[in-house]
Amino acid sequence: MVSDNELFALGLGLKSPWYLEDQRLEMDKQPHELHLRIGVERGSQFPCPICGKKAKAHDFRESTWRHLNFFQHHCYLTAPVPRVRCPEHGVKQSEVPWARKGSGFTLLFEQAALMLAREMPVASAARIMGITDKRLWRVVLHYVEQAMAELDLSTVEAIGLDETASKRGHNYITVFIDMQRRERPVLFAVPGKGKAAVAAFAQHLKAHGGECGRIAEVVCDMSGAFLSGVHEQFPEAEVTVDWFHIVQLFTRSVDEVRKAEARDTVLPKHCRWAVLKGKETKRTAKQQEALDELLNTGFDTATAWLIKEKLRWVREAKTVQAVRNRITRFIRFARELIGDSFALEPMAKALETLERHAERVIRRWTSTYTNARMEGFNSLFQAARARARGYSTNRTFIAMVYLIGAPIQLLVKST
Ligand SMILES: [Zn+2]
Repeated sequence: MVSDNELFALGLGLKSPWYLEDQRLEMDKQPHELHLRIGVERGSQFPCPICGKKAKAHDFRESTWRHLNFFQHHCYLTAPVPRVRCPEHGVKQSEVPWARKGSGFTLLFEQAALMLAREMPVASAARIMGITDKRLWRVVLHYVEQAMAELDLSTVEAIGLDETASKRGHNYITVFIDMQRRERPVLFAVPGKGKAAVAAFAQHLKAHGGECGRIAEVVCDMSGAFLSGVHEQFPEAEVTVDWFHIVQLFTRSVDEVRKAEARDTVLPKHCRWAVLKGKETKRTAKQQEALDELLNTGFDTATAWLIKEKLRWVREAKTVQAVRNRITRFIRFARELIGDSFALEPMAKALETLERHAERVIRRWTSTYTNARMEGFNSLFQAARARARGYSTNRTFIAMVYLIGAPIQLLVKST
């Protein structure tokens, strides 16, 4: 027969000189608490945390760790932690095999917490584990940042980058992905945007075995700050602009036209989403009505929408020759519709941008990397924002982007 103590010791993976000395269930607490007391064999030697050489214990200090729930009971371990007297390094606190230094949780507890945090918002995971979200964040940040520090970037050849606001307002984060990775492509994220963000990535790349000279293609949007940063850090790379960014640019311009028009005209109700959605995306009956009314009445917003929708025809071009041709015809078609309308100025600006970057856009037709990679950014950002809700800083948001999107394994190492 295995005794209760031996059973618990087995679950904890306790090995000599550690053993389970005592266990008691505190019934006066809600939920009940199971307290396991770990003892240590007399006269044992422990490794110095710096050199690993074993030495006798100088003294012991008692510590307590939160451990995995035992059924519905919260479980705690208490043990005397030795301080060793190393001939070389003096008196140092030795590490225990079930927890990492400085953590108030056992490794098994942390592992369970990380598994939950991968699947749900940190606040919810913390509730399930019965700890504050602040404490869970500390665990998540530790393991995510440690795993990211070990990432090997020596084979990276093509990158995509995009920026997003980590919260409402102007708190920007730039995220870099590996265009060749199908799953979990995130390589790096940094607060800020533009030139400084690209420089920070170049630094990170070099620190992780990568080379700027190896980067053959960079996919990004058309912001001047990004472009000049890319040119500076990755002079060999071909810069391409994703179709996704073109659609984004024109969609924003349509919205600008609509907002300005709504200030001095009464636009049909439900008009906003009606024009933000693409032609083949399902509209509600009211949105469809709004769109029909817009088109029939000749609002500027309707003209802007028609221009944006015509982009689809450009996108459907099969060859480089065809897309070049269609971009030229698209620009001509749009300019005619715009004429010298002041209200359609935002559309004219979008056209200028497209014209200026046309070659970079066309290059995407010969690129081997799919558009889906860049489109994936949006859902990644949304998911990270949702997971970090309630405790959102640049650091927690970035940690979530990594947790969801980076090729990392969160290894909880037992010593
Ligand atoms: Zn030592």
